[in-house]
Amino acid sequence: EPELSAEFKTLLQWADELRDLGVRANADNPEDAKKAMEFGAGGIGLCRTEHMFMDAKRVPFVQRMILAETLTEREEALSHLLPMQQEDFEGIFEAMEGHPVTIRLLDPPLHEFLPDKEELLVDVTKLQILHPDSTELAEKEALLKKVRQLDEFNPMLGHRGCRLGMIHPEIYGMQAKAIFYAVAAIMNKGLPVKPEIMIPLVGHVNELRQMRQLVIDTAKEVEQETGLTFTYTVGTMIEIPRAAITADEIAEEADFFSFGTNDLTQTTFGYSRDDAEGKFLQTYIEEKVLPENPFAVLDQGGVGKLVEMGVQLGRKTKPELKTGICGEHGGEKFSIEFCYKTGLDYVSCSPYRVPLARLAAAQATIRNKKSKEPVY
Ligand code: PEP
Ligand code: MG
Repeated sequence: EPELSAEFKTLLQWADELRDLGVRANADNPEDAKKAMEFGAGGIGLCRTEHMFMDAKRVPFVQRMILAETLTEREEALSHLLPMQQEDFEGIFEAMEGHPVTIRLLDPPLHEFLPDKEELLVDVTKLQILHPDSTELAEKEALLKKVRQLDEFNPMLGHRGCRLGMIHPEIYGMQAKAIFYAVAAIMNKGLPVKPEIMIPLVGHVNELRQMRQLVIDTAKEVEQETGLTFTYTVGTMIEIPRAAITADEIAEEADFFSFGTNDLTQTTFGYSRDDAEGKFLQTYIEEKVLPENPFAVLDQGGVGKLVEMGVQLGRKTKPELKTGICGEHGGEKFSIEFCYKTGLDYVSCSPYRVPLARLAAAQATIRNKKSKEPVY
């Protein structure tokens, strides 16, 4: 576990006095949240909720939820996940001591929670020969059927992000309920809490409108149940070119934008983020077709232009719109300087990169201060 030396901590404090760009961390559990606080993050800019679903105790319920034939069956499976999610969020809120926590609702395609198709096929074939009447075979066949139904040629462009919430509002509904139950529990302990709920992969304002309404309705329901009044915001990731291009419309429904430059790079270049690196992209970089790996350093000429467009259009509709970045670029010094110049309010990166980001934010402020309007 790296420790920061006293001298370095002093240097970071000086950097904090100078910088006029917020630095948050990406964290999905209380341990990482505590690390983020130790390293001086001003909040959590991205809490991905999918890892919580991958936990061994939860996978059976997640699979039951995915395999459900009816809404009642799905809701029954979700009811088991609800208290577990609530506990996740309570732990994170408590660790963050009232600093803002941006929780992103479920993002990956559902088949990521199911077994591998090829392995399942081998198992089914074996069981058909060895134990043709077993319940295990029936279960695996049902699973294989579902895996085939969910199979997509391009899952990263498929049924994921808010598209899951649109088709299965009960999944996002459960997550929103868990967030507000956690908020209520923290409030009842007399502690501060600042939740920000974030909708992923929005490409059209109608998606955000519908998902935001679901969050608002859920908050009201929990307010009635608990007698408390919640303060929270609802925002969106901007991670598809269409979202940046129509940011003026999207801002109508958003309290904040967070640029997901991992997906935005993937979709702007049309490069698969899971395949390009280490393959043709390697040659491109070696032969200087591209000056840098755009997944590591923000491509200012293309992806960056979409970020600028997103900020400008969003603020045209809503001057007070809060903006940040939570893609990998949020912890990279050249990209941080670009974010500062673009007028973002904060960057968010992995906890271990927070100290570097604090320094880079101060350097960006010193170098560009004169040419920039203050952002807050
Ligand atoms: C992104 O797309 O930049 C992002 C932060 O989300 P994820 O990496 O989880 O897709
Ligand atoms: Mg993304």
